[in-house]
Amino acid sequence: MENYFICPHCRGHLKVGDRIIFRVRNQKKKCGLLLLSPLIGNYDSVKHPKFEYREGEPLDFYCPLCGHILSTSIDENLIFVVMIDDQDVEHNIYFSRIAGEKSTYQVTGDQVMATGEHSGKYTYFSMSDRFRQYLRR
Ligand SMILES: [Zn+2]
Repeated sequence: MENYFICPHCRGHLKVGDRIIFRVRNQKKKCGLLLLSPLIGNYDSVKHPKFEYREGEPLDFYCPLCGHILSTSIDENLIFVVMIDDQDVEHNIYFSRIAGEKSTYQVTGDQVMATGEHSGKYTYFSMSDRFRQYLRR
């Protein structure tokens, strides 16, 4: 079984081989390519050693194809991409843009699957969109 990852804006494929490729910008406005694992819960990353950032630094993630920032209105610290599984079902994937923070959420319709040791930080993901809109009144 193989999952694809696409940009929510241009729907271009972000996964090449066994990595998802992002254009990333650090707080010093330096850009680099960051390669992440397509396995949810695996936080291995690959980058050039000249591209540096520190633990806890917020990084800006961009689609390397269309250049659109991969942010979401849900939380300024979350990145948003779309995963398509082998059944052709689309899942919204959110993960933290804070370096070293391990929190990933797979949202499929009303269902949320949280992964990572820091996933408790964004607790509103434990409820569905439908309930969240009532809480925001
Ligand atoms: Zn794109």
